[in-house]
Amino acid sequence: MTKFKRILLKLSGESLAGEKGYGIDENHLTEYAQQIKEIHDMGVQIGIVIGGGNIFRGLSGTAKGFDRVKGDQMGMCATVINSLGLSSALGAIGVPTRVLTAIRMEPIGEFYNKWKAIRHLENKEVVILAAGTGNPYFTTDTGSSLRGLEIEADVMLKGTRVDGVYTADPEKDPTATKFDDISYDEMLERNLKVMDLSAIVMCRDNNLPIYVFNMDKPGNLKRVIEGENIGTYVHR
Ligand code: UDP
Repeated sequence: MTKFKRILLKLSGESLAGEKGYGIDENHLTEYAQQIKEIHDMGVQIGIVIGGGNIFRGLSGTAKGFDRVKGDQMGMCATVINSLGLSSALGAIGVPTRVLTAIRMEPIGEFYNKWKAIRHLENKEVVILAAGTGNPYFTTDTGSSLRGLEIEADVMLKGTRVDGVYTADPEKDPTATKFDDISYDEMLERNLKVMDLSAIVMCRDNNLPIYVFNMDKPGNLKRVIEGENIGTYVHR
């Protein structure tokens, strides 16, 4: 038995960089692919949004003189690079995938639409939703909440390198404590920077639960799917 039938998994680009701190660490990518295979084998329908922070972020680009919109477009292209990398790593271990892009760029990926995505999911293909929302001034967190709602996912799983939502950043404050669950509103009031506020608001307003967990520990994705309480559940 799986706790969720259809999920939207958000992976950060930054964690793909692994020890290198930039670009793609192949071992890390393969490890993620293996975790995804484990839950694919259990019959879970999987949509994935992956960030691009390991390659380029529009906002940091503006600080270096890049035009914001072009910088964000570069960031969206970065998510496509990561999506292709993940698709390739999944293909190498026998998991069928489709890359759907928010911006038209065939043959790199198919142009996204909700019904196509759902059809592929029902056909047991992992659907990788690339290029965020396709618009500047957004992030892949917002892209995930949007796509999670569109594909009618049961939950948005946010795979990070921390164990869940803490009272403060546990990497900076050793006294920080973890929430097992928290409401959207409390997360917003406390200004907990686990994900973008606009993404949280979108999930709240449309009632898409979020589960934040540590994806950098092998086997954790499967544990979440089996209903083990290893992270933080964000809900109404
Ligand atoms: N981006 C964008 N619109 C979107 C999604 C992403 O403009 O809908 C750009 C934005 O510049 C962002 C970059 O792509 O900084 C990479 O995405 P993100 O920062 O969310 O990646 P992550 O932090 O998850 O690695």
